[in-house]
Amino acid sequence: MVFDRKKWRKKYYLQNKDKERKSNKEYYQKNKDKWKDFPSQNLSNPEIGRYRKKKSLKWREDNREKHNALMREQYKKNKKKWHARSIAQKIKIPKNQICGLCKKNKALERHHEDYDEPKEVNFVCKKCHRTLHKKVK
Ligand SMILES: [Zn+2]
Ligand SMILES: [Zn+2]
Repeated sequence: MVFDRKKWRKKYYLQNKDKERKSNKEYYQKNKDKWKDFPSQNLSNPEIGRYRKKKSLKWREDNREKHNALMREQYKKNKKKWHARSIAQKIKIPKNQICGLCKKNKALERHHEDYDEPKEVNFVCKKCHRTLHKKVK
């Protein structure tokens, strides 16, 4: 009989697929508590990194709906923002426009109070614009 290495390997893989997967799982389960107590300087340990990645992937898997909803929400928000910005870009800032906030500096930027109203922009100076956005966050 000719020994077909390829075939044999495939057979071996198929036979042990579940077994290997199970033993991996058992290994993680067994060491879960141990890892929990690891001092923080061991966080760079690749074993733990792999474990964490697997866990976060699992969370995503288990919370697929939640994750998708989160992404959708983010996308919708960003889309609104991009849209508002592209409209605002077409609104010219009048020459010698003074910042609507400090009423001192020259207004060089446009600020949206509400991205639902893309045409409603306030002309503000750079400094005020920065503070405006800091407040939001
Ligand atoms: Zn200002
Ligand atoms: Zn702004």
